[in-house]
Formats: sequence, C-alpha cells, structure tokens
Amino acid sequence: MSKINMTTPIVEMDGDEMTRVLWQMIKDKLILPYIDLKSEYYDLGLKHRDETDDQVTVDSANATLKYGVAVKCATITPNNERVKEYGLKKMWKSPNGTIRAILDGTVFRTPIMVKGIEPNVRTWTSPITLARHAYGDVYKNVEIRVPGPGKAELVFTGADGTEVRETIHEFDEPGIIQGIHNKDSSIKSFARACFKYALSEKKELWLGTKDTISKTYDRRFREIFDEVFETEFKEEFEKTGITYFYTLIDDAVARVMKSKGGFIWACKNYDGDVMSDMVSSAFGSLAMMTSVLVSPTGVYEYEAAHGTVQRHYYKYLKGEPTSTNPVATIFAWTGALRKRGELDGIKELCTWADKMEKATLSVIESGRMTGDLALITTLPDPVKLGSEEFLDAIAEEFNK
Ligand code: NAD
Repeated sequence: MSKINMTTPIVEMDGDEMTRVLWQMIKDKLILPYIDLKSEYYDLGLKHRDETDDQVTVDSANATLKYGVAVKCATITPNNERVKEYGLKKMWKSPNGTIRAILDGTVFRTPIMVKGIEPNVRTWTSPITLARHAYGDVYKNVEIRVPGPGKAELVFTGADGTEVRETIHEFDEPGIIQGIHNKDSSIKSFARACFKYALSEKKELWLGTKDTISKTYDRRFREIFDEVFETEFKEEFEKTGITYFYTLIDDAVARVMKSKGGFIWACKNYDGDVMSDMVSSAFGSLAMMTSVLVSPTGVYEYEAAHGTVQRHYYKYLKGEPTSTNPVATIFAWTGALRKRGELDGIKELCTWADKMEKATLSVIESGRMTGDLALITTLPDPVKLGSEEFLDAIAEEFNK
C-alpha cells in the first residue's frame, strides 16, 4: 500500500510523561503506516525545554505561525516539585501560555461524542464547543481590602494628563474593592478567532455577556463582536448558512441546557473558566475533550484538553500495565492532519482522518475501551484494554 504524501510539514510538539509515551505509540501504529509524515519536530519535553532555556517553545510557536498547523502533546507546567524532580534551572512558564501569547490565540474545546458514553444532559446530541477569552478581567485584577470608612474612586489618567473619575463607593465600614480591565485589541482578536473558527467548522456562534448590568464593560464585548461581524464576516456567514447570535449570559446558559448542542459558545474569561468545566464534565470525560488554539489570522494548534496523566506514568515506569485513554490525542493528530489536508488540497489526508476517527469510535462502541471509559459507559459488559491493546484494536478496525 502506498503512503499518503504531504506537501507542507506539520509542526509537531512532543511533550511529557504518559502522553509522550502515547504520542510515540500513536505515531507508530496509526500514522506512520499510512502517511509519509512531513513534520517539523520540536521536543517540548521538560528536560529539553530546560536545556534550551525554553527557547524551543518559542521556536515551535514561531514555526506554527510560519506553516499554519501544529499538533501538540501535553506538557508539564513546572511547579516547585517539578523543579526538584527534574533539577530545573528555573520554574519555566506554562508552554501553553507562551504559545497562546505568540499566536494571540483563542482555545476552543470540544467533546468527542460516542455511543455508550452518554452526556448527563439528555438533550445534548451534538457536541458543544466552548471558546474562552484568555485575557484580562478578574485574572488580571487589582484588589484592595478596605480597612474602614473612606471613599473608593476609579481614576483614569490619560497620556496627556486628563483625568476621568468615578466614585465606586463611599464606605462607612470595612469592605473590598477590585479593579479589572480589558483591551479592545484583545477582544477583537478573540472575536476574529471565534468567527474564523465558526466558519471553518460551519457551526453557529453564540456570545453571552451581562451587558444589561455592565453597560460599559460587558457592552464593549457585544459592540466589538457586532462590529467585527458586520464589517468582516457577515457575508461569509450568510454564504455558509450559519448565524451569529448574541444573548444575555443568563439566557445563554438556560438555552445551552435545553439545546441539542452543535454550536460554538464564546465566553468571557471567567464565564469560560467555569462553563468549560461544566460542559466537559457533563459530556463525560476529560480524556474525551479535544482542544484547538486558533489565531485571529487562522493558524491552528491541536491538542488534547487533558494533562500528562502523571499517575499512570509512574505506574508505567514501574512496569505496571496502564490503561490511559489516547482518544483525545488521536483526535489532535487527525484534526491537525485533516486541516493540513484542507489547506493543501490533499483529499487523502482528510479521508484518512475521517476513517481513523471512525475506527476509534467503532472500537469503543464495540465495548472495548480504556479503564476511564469502562467505569462510566452505559454499554453492557465493557472490556477494559491497555493503551497499547486499544491502539492495536483501532489499527485493526481501520485496516478493515
Ligand atoms: P491530567 O489531565 O493529567 O489528569 C487529571 C485527572 O484525569 C487524573 O486523575 C488522570 O488520571 C485523569 N486523566 C486525564 N487524562 C486521562 C487520560 N487520557 N486517560 C485516563 N485518565 C486521564 O492533569 P493533572 O494530573 O492535573 O496534571 C498532570 C500534569 O499535566 C501536570 O504537570 C500539568 O502541568 C500538566 N497539564 C498539562 C496540560 C497541557 O499540556 N495542555 C493540561 C493540564 C495539565
């Protein structure tokens, strides 16, 4: 059988622990036998990040800007324990944060749905994709614990010295105050990434904020989305047959719970933080969530939403059998290679991705799955497979 040829390399970002082990297995069993893989490889494993003073992370993000599509393995974000465990020179920053900043990107998380792993919300028959704005608001706040009576004011001093002042509250007792901010440019990038991704997925886009109460701050999000939509995307949305829909955040939540799914939900930073955990747990499992970082210029980085599955890795190192779920990582590869196929007009890559995803889901639907899924499936008598056996079953199904 001849292998599928690629024209543009995919940026491959390797990672850490159990997911690094799965990464190689997925390549060996599901990719390399079928595709003449062209990749520009970056080792984002913690040891190599440390050796390169984290330059490798920056280089991989720049390569993504150059080529347009990347696939990333989960990586360790170091804390004190990791600094000791790996003898690091420094507590390097989160690679995902670094890459997101360079790509100016928005993260879209989508659950992988399969018969036998049923969402807790009965009406959700299609996946809900959550887009979280990842800049500002309460995550870059300034807070003061007010000790006692006094006046709190909001003051802006313009570059020319002009002052704008608003009274926040005249305190007659102790209390608390908080200042938050956002930037038009960041909201615009967020809006563009959302509209671009909605077009690329051919799905409706929803946005909800609290603009009835926050008449300037939340209102600004609505205004910018409206403006970007009207001037840059309206026509293409009409041509594609999809819609952009704004509603109050409370109404959005109520509608989401009663919906069938199948749309993209754009959320402000905090709403996205809270709602993405609700949506992902209600869909079943973190190991079945994919994640793609999309830049406002249309650059894509695919990954699994979960971490490096540290607990399983230590078992693996001791030679114990592990049953780590590789599905989200497989879908990161299929997502990235399908996108490469679309951009380069290589139909065979897209077909391979569709078939590989279908084979993966078929194996689960046949009752064979990893331990995490066996615990929550509604299928009778599930068979628990180790990661490697599970991947072999997928390859066998694919070859049929
Ligand atoms: P984790 O996602 O690795 O694990 C959280 C829980 O979910 C664990 O109980 C784990 O057993 C289970 N789980 C997750 N994925 C699974 C899978 N594929 N199969 C079976 N079970 C699975 O998160 P953590 O334990 O909080 O973090 C471990 C490491 O991962 C940390 O060093 C952290 O910095 C890193 N991390 C990386 C990313 C990323 O690169 N995108 C995201 C989150 C965490």
